[in-house]
Amino acid sequence: STFQELGLNDDLLHAITDLGFIKPSEVQEKAIPILLESETDLVALAQTGTGKTAAFGFPMLEKIDVDSRTTQGLILSPTRELCLQITNEMKQYGKYCKGLNVVAIYGGSSITDQAREVKRGAQIIVATPGRMKDMISRRMVDISKIQYSVLDEADEMLNMGFKEDITDILSHTPEDKNTWLFSATMPREVAAIAKNFMSNPQEITV
Ligand code: AMP
Repeated sequence: STFQELGLNDDLLHAITDLGFIKPSEVQEKAIPILLESETDLVALAQTGTGKTAAFGFPMLEKIDVDSRTTQGLILSPTRELCLQITNEMKQYGKYCKGLNVVAIYGGSSITDQAREVKRGAQIIVATPGRMKDMISRRMVDISKIQYSVLDEADEMLNMGFKEDITDILSHTPEDKNTWLFSATMPREVAAIAKNFMSNPQEITV
């Protein structure tokens, strides 16, 4: 199939053309129609390098309201490197979404600078769990209006000991948001997160 057939809007299709993506990867083909067509939770078993960032990124960019400055999308990832990589990809994918602001939040860098960026109005925040929790407790960020949350590389985040932080962060988000969990493996701990924080998730495997 083509990206057009998946139902993406012209702004995204324009960016996809610029990036030279010819056709959707398997995880994109499976995830994008589900996420575009329904307000649902999703569990996706997918390795890195499969194009999973776009699999959750395109639908999130399509669904958020760029005319609002409210933070509507939250992407949690295990490391600073991955956080910056996802942020960079989201900015490229959303380059024609006028008014879009994607902000990265991660440790080892100025928290006041990051708070200032958030304050300018970020529809999407890409964060590592530790710094995110810190900024929530300091009231530097408001995630009470989040509609879409992504747990990227969920198995890695749990391996790194972020379970408490993730639980704390999600407790500050609305009950009725949608959660999209991506993981390369499905150990018991990841299944438990899916069970405790998601309702009737659709499942895909690539
Ligand atoms: P990811 O698994 O999200 O880290 O993506 C791996 C790499 O594949 C990234 O550099 C993406 O820019 C690229 N990519 C994602 N989707 C596609 C696609 N449909 N066609 C070609 N490259 C892609």
